[in-house]
Amino acid sequence: MTCAAFYLELNKILPGRVKAGESMKKYTSWRIGGPAELFVEPVGREELQRVVACAHKRGIRLTVIGAGSNLLVSDRGIKGVVVKVGRGLGRVWIEESRVVAEAGAKLAHVAATAKDAGFGGFEFSAGIPGAVGGALAMNAGANGASIGDLVHGILLLSQAGEYCRKSKEEMDFGYRTSVLRREPWIVIETTFCCRRRDKDLIKKEMDEYRHKRRSTQPITFPSAGSVFKNPPGHSAGRLIESSGLKGMRIGGAEISDLHANFIVNLGWATARDVLTLIDKVREAVHSKFGVELELEVNVVGDI
Ligand SMILES: Cc1cc2nc3c(=O)[nH]c(=O)nc-3n(C[C@H](O)[C@H](O)[C@H](O)COP(=O)(O)OP(=O)(O)OC[C@H]3O[C@@H](n4cnc5c(N)ncnc54)[C@H](O)[C@@H]3O)c2cc1C
Repeated sequence: MTCAAFYLELNKILPGRVKAGESMKKYTSWRIGGPAELFVEPVGREELQRVVACAHKRGIRLTVIGAGSNLLVSDRGIKGVVVKVGRGLGRVWIEESRVVAEAGAKLAHVAATAKDAGFGGFEFSAGIPGAVGGALAMNAGANGASIGDLVHGILLLSQAGEYCRKSKEEMDFGYRTSVLRREPWIVIETTFCCRRRDKDLIKKEMDEYRHKRRSTQPITFPSAGSVFKNPPGHSAGRLIESSGLKGMRIGGAEISDLHANFIVNLGWATARDVLTLIDKVREAVHSKFGVELELEVNVVGDI
């Protein structure tokens, strides 16, 4: 089925809310990216399930995004349908001693809900701009902890539109990775185990982490956080800095002066600019230190 015909089918599920040729710049923290052939943001899990099942049945490529804070979308854009899991699946609540969050809930919202109920565990996430689904896919972490540490169980949707539950062990969490980077499951809802902690202590710790970020990361420019993973035994930022690359610029993309593992968009960067800079960094670090840098950010779309 062509995307034009699929547009009409989708329009029956989300009347008037299917966007064709929507610029992905609006949906990525890097403010970079070409158009999504089709773009939808379901208002709830039933709608999401119908979209996913319909795309599967019609053989239409499906790309799921969350807050878009770890994505480099190509300048040519994304074929098929892009599904943003956002505010429509943004609820967070407490169930006995557990925090339950839908996939589109921002980490800040989850951490605040946990704190207000007197539960610690999410302090590490202060300043990470992602939503729950993306954070689980990436096993987002900072300050010595990662989101996978807190997981009790996850409700997922297959690309065929069928629900299934997975335990923490089945998610295969590792350094900035999980089973979701290999298997096309979609996160719907997650239950987190948290421990009781004094609210003031939680707030104090989170304020400190935010303060540290403000002084060490270029948060006033669009970016996607760390571009490369830290290789075993090394800091990617330090390797890049020691290769003399801080401040290097291609088009509108620049290696941050504040943190060399951040590539910032000066306002007119293209995905091609960022990818060219990525290649230069890899070459330079490899020739100086013999270390292969692995991407942390997800490159999506047609290069
Ligand atoms: C300023 C800044 C600082 C950052 N600091 C950190 C940090 O300290 N630590 C860290 O780990 N990261 C950091 N990041 C990166 C990013 O915020 C995290 O990786 C975040 O958790 C990604 O979540 P997202 O919702 O934005 O995911 P997206 O970028 O939208 O997607 C990321 C991946 O998750 C997948 N995905 C999204 N939603 C779902 C879903 N519902 N089901 C299945 N798969 C899904 C996507 O397909 C994609 O592969 C930072 C980013 C910025 C811009």
